[in-house]
Amino acid sequence: NLYLEPMARNLERSLALQKRAEALLPGGVDSPVRAFRAVGGEPPFVVRGAGAYLWDADGNRYLDYFGSWGPMVLGHAFPAVVEAIQQAAAKSASFGASTPAEGDLAELVVEAVPSIDKLRFVSSGTEATMSAIRVARAFTGRKYIIKFEGCYHGHSDGLLVKAGSGVATFGIPGSAGVPEEIAHYTLALPYNDIASVEAAFEAHRGEIACIILEPVVGNMGCVLPAGGYLETLRAITLREGALLIFDEVMTGFRVAHGGAQQRYGIVPDMTALGKIIGGGLPCGAFGGRAEIMNLLAPLGPVYQAGTLSGNPLAMAAGMATLQHLRQHKTEVYARLEALSAMVADGITAAAHEAGLPVVTNRVGAMFTWFFTEAPVTDFASAAASDTALFARFHHAMMEAGIWLPPSQFEAAFLSTAHTEADISATIEAARNAFAAIEV
Ligand code: PLP
Repeated sequence: NLYLEPMARNLERSLALQKRAEALLPGGVDSPVRAFRAVGGEPPFVVRGAGAYLWDADGNRYLDYFGSWGPMVLGHAFPAVVEAIQQAAAKSASFGASTPAEGDLAELVVEAVPSIDKLRFVSSGTEATMSAIRVARAFTGRKYIIKFEGCYHGHSDGLLVKAGSGVATFGIPGSAGVPEEIAHYTLALPYNDIASVEAAFEAHRGEIACIILEPVVGNMGCVLPAGGYLETLRAITLREGALLIFDEVMTGFRVAHGGAQQRYGIVPDMTALGKIIGGGLPCGAFGGRAEIMNLLAPLGPVYQAGTLSGNPLAMAAGMATLQHLRQHKTEVYARLEALSAMVADGITAAAHEAGLPVVTNRVGAMFTWFFTEAPVTDFASAAASDTALFARFHHAMMEAGIWLPPSQFEAAFLSTAHTEADISATIEAARNAFAAIEV
């Protein structure tokens, strides 16, 4: 069994590629967390993926638990997705004119996601949340927005305040280059804390355009909404005339076919999507009720546009993915749930057997093992985790051919390509890793 013995990985080619990349790209990467700074060690350069596996430039094989940070819910190189991209590519990569594919994918999204009557496609999750906020401000005629500490909504200026993901990983309170005048309109409050939301509305009555949140957080590691939290945010926003925006870039088509809003039975005013809806190609979307979405140009006064928005290859990959999820939704989500529970609970038990403190949060195929003793319900409790211990665990798992997200503050994901045997091997590898870790 490949996982049981350390692979004593040869990373020679990856190291050479990293050296070249560092001369050309800041940190050698196009997205900071890829540099492995939070866990140390060398980031392997990936050359191929198939199903639940990745191969690096030196030929090492890894079982993938980060799934391109969410999109690859069907695994890598899923045949229907590959075929759809090939067929679309043969007809040209882009037109900059309307195509039937945009309507095809829009129909699948509208059918699945309860809050969306109309949507617009963009090319990333960042654009989806940024544009949703512009529309919310126009709809309400208000300037302030509420976000929560540790939630990440992409890297637009106003949303990089106390953000999660790489911002949390690198311990950056905000980002340099964001004018304080812009950050001023972002009220960043603790997650799962209704009192602070009430206080913000008290202090800024009639001035808050929207609340944006990850309905299940992935970007401070996985954090669940407390019982009644989403319901209360819905009630407060209705009472205050503010919009409720669910950022389902990560949770959409992952925690349930219709996302967290379906799983928890809450209908937000607007929803941001990304990741899975593009099947691994650059794609995002934002949508909501028609009366809100009709504010967008060319119908209304809110400008938003994109040369590659609704790109035919992205639409094709998204279609193939969403069609599969729709057709097999009962089996897919039941399987993701069962296998995710197996690996999440199995590793937790292994950690406890080894006397290590681990708290596990999971919703569907999205989960995090926090190296801490107290429940993790917000950014402060997530940040109490022993990140050095996580780094040692991560390193040991990489050596065993299991690639977990390279930060304590990122959720792990499972795909439909993972098997029971993969899960058993993962738990076995974790048991060995925990035994080898000296606390
Ligand atoms: N919103 C959430 C919840 C995310 O997890 C992410 C990315 O991880 C984004 C927005 C930004 O998406 P993108 O990286 O496609 O810009």
